[in-house]
Amino acid sequence: MAVMESYKPAGILMGRLAHGADLLEEITGICRDNNIRMGRVEAIGAVSGARLGYYNQEVREYEYFTAEQPLEIVAMKGNISLKDGEPMVHAHVVLSDENGDAFGGHLAAGTIIFACECVIEVFDGAVLERKPDDQTGLPLWEMT
Ligand code: ZN
Repeated sequence: MAVMESYKPAGILMGRLAHGADLLEEITGICRDNNIRMGRVEAIGAVSGARLGYYNQEVREYEYFTAEQPLEIVAMKGNISLKDGEPMVHAHVVLSDENGDAFGGHLAAGTIIFACECVIEVFDGAVLERKPDDQTGLPLWEMT
């Protein structure tokens, strides 16, 4: 059964991320610096290389792959919550190459920004914390 919380919008940050920075670490740092604990994030732009994850459900581990080439960020969507008391950004991206061929996955550290326009929406409400989930092996939101 789905368990949902209710949130109110508390503000929106919009800006340009730093060239050469790590995409996931840059957004996580913005959350830490602005004390953002709950929210959602989206971005478009380009990366000079990417590292993405795919969760292998059978062995319950992320498998990572890299793409060492310039790529468009067609779409990045994610959410912000807490893990071990710190803001954690969970985001997925779709990237495309010079032929328009796209692929995607779970955004991992190692994806380097070429240019990126980012919007973060901050939420007011119950703070969700990620805890290990037995059914999936993933750190999921603890819902009460
Ligand atoms: Zn994911």
